[in-house]
Amino acid sequence: MTRSVFVINAGSSSLKYQLVDLDSGAALASGLIERIGETTGEAKHELPGRPKVVEQRVIPDHEKAFGWVLRQLDQHGPALDEAGIIGIGHRVVQGGARFDRAVLIDDDVAQQIDDLAPLAPLHNPANLQGIRSARATFMGYPHVAVFDTAFHLTIPPAAHRYAIEARIAAEHRVRKYGFHGTSHQYVSRRMAELLGRPLDEVNTIVLHLGNGASATAVRGGRSIETSMGMTPLAGLVMGTRSGDVDPGVIFHLHRVAGLSVDEIDLLLNKRSGLLGMTGTGDMRDVLQSAEAGIPRAVEALEVVGHRLRGTVGAYLAHLGRTDAIAFTAGIGENAAKVREVALAGLEGLGIVLDPERNAGRGERRISADGSAIEVWVVPTNEELEIARQVAALVDAG
Ligand code: AMP
Repeated sequence: MTRSVFVINAGSSSLKYQLVDLDSGAALASGLIERIGETTGEAKHELPGRPKVVEQRVIPDHEKAFGWVLRQLDQHGPALDEAGIIGIGHRVVQGGARFDRAVLIDDDVAQQIDDLAPLAPLHNPANLQGIRSARATFMGYPHVAVFDTAFHLTIPPAAHRYAIEARIAAEHRVRKYGFHGTSHQYVSRRMAELLGRPLDEVNTIVLHLGNGASATAVRGGRSIETSMGMTPLAGLVMGTRSGDVDPGVIFHLHRVAGLSVDEIDLLLNKRSGLLGMTGTGDMRDVLQSAEAGIPRAVEALEVVGHRLRGTVGAYLAHLGRTDAIAFTAGIGENAAKVREVALAGLEGLGIVLDPERNAGRGERRISADGSAIEVWVVPTNEELEIARQVAALVDAG
């Protein structure tokens, strides 16, 4: 009998879903609904080995979106009663200092996700909307919240406190939370498996490089430092986000350039990073332009590499002993050039890439045989991690 988990990632105008088979880890069905609440929406439903169902239609709200998903499952399969769904997993971005693991959603948990909205105003209300609509659609199933921040709650105060006035920090919950936790957790666990060693003995630096990007130092399966902060704006250079800037830049842009707080927010979150430096936020285009010698793309790649090397260096120091560095997500898995610049010149620290392995594909070791620290590409699978956490909770309860 199939056992599966229905995994949901709800945005303010989007809904991504995957029905995950717990035994094989494969997607039994997946889909994406976009532009919910707008004048024309698009809905896609996909089954392995079959042509994608794509419909342009008006989708007024998340509940109607779930109705569409149910109809697809009904018409194209897998039928709900045959899919063996044991629970519904919801990706929730911000779990604050409260949620250090996945939890069954009841009205109290829903309220707490709502209370955390000031810390993630773009994400938590949308996640909650997804939860409410899904609970109304998939009645009778356990619903579980899996938080992007939970894995990072093991980060010690020395690393998560900002050196600002303590009273203000406490009152407004200002501290490092970190994000991409499910991905960092999945990849660090998989890394220990690949090394054939117990998780609690393995120290890994995970570089999740996608449109959003973050690095995490994982000691024995526990996050001890990560590059994103109170918000996902901090740290590495991203597709459209600046990553770290001197906070004084914000005052300068306000007082001298005359930008409002909202304009600066938009600038740093949506118009910076690769997009701001080169005109495109897509790493494939940046690499192509850099290859052709276009100066701003060459420079952007240097900035990306510099920031990554600095982060890796810091995490080597925090971990004391590092067994492996794992690259993951769209850029980390696919862009050999970015992996090369990220680790260039670190031979003296025991990190040596093998160019041929680096140029290959799929899950593999890419370091040279003599490299003291192993370097790997480990494809992430956030849906599977969420599904497993849901299953662990449901089976325990
Ligand atoms: P993600 O957010 O994990 O989906 O990653 C998206 C990023 O991965 C985008 O910047 C893409 O340009 C980048 N990406 C995907 N495939 C490749 C590739 N083959 N080479 C370089 N970058 C890639």
